[in-house]
Amino acid sequence: MDTEERPKNFIRTFIDEDLASSRYPGVATRFPPEPNGYLHIGHAKSICLNFGLARDYGGHTNLRFDDTNPAKEETEYVDSIQEDVRWLGFSWDDRIYYASDYFDRLYECAERLIGDGWAYVCDLSPSELRSYRGTLTGPGRDSPFRGRSPEESLDLFRRMRAGEFEEGARSLRARIDMASPNINMRDPAVYRIKKAEHHRTGSKWVIYPMYDYAHCVSDAIEGISHSICTLEFEDHRPLYDWFLEKLGWPRPRPRQIEFARLNLEYTVMSKRRLLQLVKEGTVDGWDDPRLPTVAAIRRRGFTPSSIRLFCERIGVAKKDSWIELEWLEKAARDDLNPAVKRVMAVLDPVKVVLENVPEGFSRAIDAPFFPDEPGRMGSRELVLTKEIFIERDDFMVEPSPGFLRLSPGKEARLRWASYVKCLGHETDADGRVALVRCELLDAPTGLDKKGRPARPNIIHWVPAALSLPASCRIYDRLFKVPRPTGEDLASELNPESLVVRDGARLEPSMASAAPWERFQFERLGYFMVDPGSPAGGPPVFNRVVALKDGWKGGAAGAKPRRP
Ligand code: ATP
Ligand code: MG
Repeated sequence: MDTEERPKNFIRTFIDEDLASSRYPGVATRFPPEPNGYLHIGHAKSICLNFGLARDYGGHTNLRFDDTNPAKEETEYVDSIQEDVRWLGFSWDDRIYYASDYFDRLYECAERLIGDGWAYVCDLSPSELRSYRGTLTGPGRDSPFRGRSPEESLDLFRRMRAGEFEEGARSLRARIDMASPNINMRDPAVYRIKKAEHHRTGSKWVIYPMYDYAHCVSDAIEGISHSICTLEFEDHRPLYDWFLEKLGWPRPRPRQIEFARLNLEYTVMSKRRLLQLVKEGTVDGWDDPRLPTVAAIRRRGFTPSSIRLFCERIGVAKKDSWIELEWLEKAARDDLNPAVKRVMAVLDPVKVVLENVPEGFSRAIDAPFFPDEPGRMGSRELVLTKEIFIERDDFMVEPSPGFLRLSPGKEARLRWASYVKCLGHETDADGRVALVRCELLDAPTGLDKKGRPARPNIIHWVPAALSLPASCRIYDRLFKVPRPTGEDLASELNPESLVVRDGARLEPSMASAAPWERFQFERLGYFMVDPGSPAGGPPVFNRVVALKDGWKGGAAGAKPRRP
């Protein structure tokens, strides 16, 4: 148990207390997704929390599909959820469960509640139920069917199960307290009639248990010790406890603990909104790297360890808040920084001719892949040739104040190679720079403002003829407003959330780059080979994240702020 090394939080404090008082013999948690969409980074937080706690306390975590709502669930989602949890690095071993596994048990328990007088069949219609429920400030009213005998309710409940009544005609309700200040306790529904196919139980059932009832009983059946959920369920906790108490569930009973859900800036997390973005073609499927889904994050190039690091750093709180996107980006950088090779790529190339070297000039340079520790990842041979490509942004005909890279008469240093001085340039018919003419220098010749030898800025480059083509995708935030509602896409979406650089050029060593392989393109950011790169065609690279300080504006997007 290495809980000492992890930051304390209120959930760990509760668990420590519960273990100290022997309330529970050990820790058993569950992750209970509803299979009605793909998992997102908010779910990842819940996964890291639940599986992380079980790991740290030597317990276990169940994967349970909360499939009590037959209309919305799909097998595609069941499969993607498993893939995503596994990818995040967690295992449920053989403990994969479905709330629908418990439909028989849940039904028996409901009959028990009826027999003991804790539930009754109510004939109010959905709209009548609403008007009887009361308001946040005023009490509800008792249903005229509240006094029904257990025998009559049992008979009606069995006939509900047999399909005798239409949807909405009747429901099973808990008999609690219509005057409770907590609306959840005003005789909430336990079962409703729903004549829909279920993805696992087919047409066996025409009545389905409500979430609040199914969830606590499922937790209890599985012997969950700590049932961790998001804050909106705080007011449901009395109901959670009530069902288990009235069922006389043997102790220890699961304990519900709520924490603040993750809200991430510049994105939306509601499954409904995500579904809309996918269905309307605003993004290119559930794994479009601009989405906050786990599938998208994976495809963009984030590592599972960077997501776990992010979740650990943001911690758990008792109060809702919005997390800045920079936290996610910082975690990706911190994770990738020590792990990947540095190489050179030019996203938006402009050709440079070194005029003072002969045709066929070639100078081989041994350059380490990981300059901070040259031995660690080996090295490759770079070849400087008469024609090279540099980033269009690294040259300005009329440099703006503070521009310290190449411009006529100015010098720059080529990464790993020598110095160049700009002699002039040529433009095409549209006035765009088509060629930059330079001379190769052994040392810088200019002086800085104080008259000392200048130390020109370093720019990256690739040899023109030997470089390899690639398409690079530069992703930015999907929304331009920090807390989008997702309601007005036209005004909230960021039109520049994807910039495609189809003419990018890579250094020759990248010929062997394989799908899922990650690199740092020097000065540009971390990139991963897209798993869907076309066979035979130029590879597609997704930018995972920009470099913190290495990017001074330009083609690749906004300069990141610090978390
Ligand atoms: P939505 O409201 O978008 O449909 P949900 O919360 O209903 O999402 P579930 O599939 O029921 O989605 O969630 C499974 C688990 O993940 C639940 O325990 C839930 O509390 C947790 N979870 C969902 N969203 C977040 C979030 N943004 N932050 C933390 N945990 C979350
Ligand atoms: Mg839910």
